[in-house]
Amino acid sequence: MGKPTGFMEYARELPMADAPIERSHRWGEFHGHGDEKLLRQQGARCMDCGVPFCHTGVVIEGMAAGCPINNLIPEWNDLVYRGLWREALERLHKTNNFPEFTGRVCPAPCEGSCVLGINEPAVTIKNIECAIIDRGFEEGWVKAEPPAVRTGKKVAIVGSGPAGLACADQLNHAGHTVTVFERADRIGGLLMYGIPNMKLDKSYVQRRVDLMKAEGVTFITNCEVGKDLPAKKLRDDFDAVVLCGGATKPNDFFAKTEGRNLKGMHFAMEFLHANTKSLLDSKHEDGKYISAKDKDVIVIGGGDTGTDCVGTSLRHGCKSILQLEIVPMPPVGRAADNPWPQWPKIYRLDYGQEEAKAIFGADPRQYSIQTTKFVGDSAGHMKEIHTIRVEWVKDNGRVIPRNIPGSEKVFPAQLVLLAMGFSGPENQLLDQLGVEKDARTNAKTEAGKFSTSVDGVFAAGDMRRGQSLVVWAINEGRGAASECDKYLMQPAGVASCE
Ligand SMILES: Cc1cc2nc3c(=O)[nH]c(=O)nc-3n(C[C@H](O)[C@H](O)[C@H](O)COP(=O)(O)OP(=O)(O)OC[C@H]3O[C@@H](n4cnc5c(N)ncnc54)[C@H](O)[C@@H]3O)c2cc1C
Ligand code: SF4
Repeated sequence: MGKPTGFMEYARELPMADAPIERSHRWGEFHGHGDEKLLRQQGARCMDCGVPFCHTGVVIEGMAAGCPINNLIPEWNDLVYRGLWREALERLHKTNNFPEFTGRVCPAPCEGSCVLGINEPAVTIKNIECAIIDRGFEEGWVKAEPPAVRTGKKVAIVGSGPAGLACADQLNHAGHTVTVFERADRIGGLLMYGIPNMKLDKSYVQRRVDLMKAEGVTFITNCEVGKDLPAKKLRDDFDAVVLCGGATKPNDFFAKTEGRNLKGMHFAMEFLHANTKSLLDSKHEDGKYISAKDKDVIVIGGGDTGTDCVGTSLRHGCKSILQLEIVPMPPVGRAADNPWPQWPKIYRLDYGQEEAKAIFGADPRQYSIQTTKFVGDSAGHMKEIHTIRVEWVKDNGRVIPRNIPGSEKVFPAQLVLLAMGFSGPENQLLDQLGVEKDARTNAKTEAGKFSTSVDGVFAAGDMRRGQSLVVWAINEGRGAASECDKYLMQPAGVASCE
């Protein structure tokens, strides 16, 4: 274990992030890892408890408790405490193909179920994870390692998000010949064009893609399977197909609301995708993005997507920003029905809200608020949005929002961004292959399995489980690879992709 008395000697400490106002003018990342002394002390806080819930990854009440890819956290905490960084890296790579992504963007359910967290602040697991992999790259320990032997089996993977990449990495290391098809012009899925650069610098995504190329994975961009290439062709040309196309259909709860067609209202992903593409293509000089500059911006919806819309609007130089959520404000500490080791459903100030608070003096989020209509000017441009407060009441066993008369309010808005989640994958690809869908329109598989209703076709990531997290997508990519490998190698060969 770390240091037997470490958890009593050292307090939880994270390195200072750059000041919110200063960082909100630029697109670079703003977190460091801290120096070696700090990291070793923080590793020393790990108690190596008998039952380390941090790496269990079980789902309780619909949320992950512990690490969904079962990272061997107590082991690498101890290795970091002892200064054995290379060994820590080897241990980390056993379960996580891409710690440089999770170490930056994971909400860290591991920390929510850290045993020390029962009565002390949890170990800084995510920061230590990121420090291990970044050091691994700096020291040159992470190198291309192509497989020694090829099996002669060919696998097509559709979609290059974390699920597709993890699946490709596993299958390639098992010796199969892997081709990844991606409709965007860059590889990475939401790692590239969803999560903004200040949260995950795109050079880290590209670095991993380059490494995988050097190990033999083929990437084909600007190719939408089902449109540019008939899905059937993949069935003819490859021994197996893995579908990792994500859940990209946005929810639109305002489809019938007055003013929905006004100019100046966009789905979050239109805003975020165009912003990152323009940033990477030309540092925004091409102007091919939706600008929030000098506008009153309203983001409807919360979660990571809503936060990223806030952070991006601030960097454009918006005039004001508000984020409206229909749900009530969460409690500041765990509620009685949300005990450890469950994911703590508590009030948090994420980076975008922290920046908005520093610039405008208040958290931009307003809770328990419902939009009733959008109103435009004579040219059809968004001018304001009308809202009403709601209270959450029990109705026949369900909790539903009820309008509070007299709480109507109007907010100015020239840009409205809809960040209300995603309803599922697009149909075309699944339909062309004849893959059965579940009740939520995701690719249907047996529980805990990745093979679809079509022989030799597997599904993983958001396309199978619905909108989720990067760490779950990696878990799914690895699981689908393992099943696909067995399919390819049995009974003739021996599966090797566990
Ligand atoms: C704005 C935003 C911010 C987020 N922030 C976080 C965060 O901070 N932390 C976190 O853990 N999770 C976050 N998430 C969730 C996380 O990004 C996703 O759960 C994860 O990326 C899903 O991975 P995936 O590989 O299943 O799909 P995706 O990452 O969506 O990748 C799917 C890829 O498939 C491609 N594709 C689809 N159809 C086809 C086709 N027919 N042919 C070729 N290519 C196709 C798409 O272009 C896309 O590139 C965020 C999500 C969003 C939208
Ligand atoms: S991947 Fe996420 S849950 Fe797992 S150890 Fe890293 S931060 Fe924690």
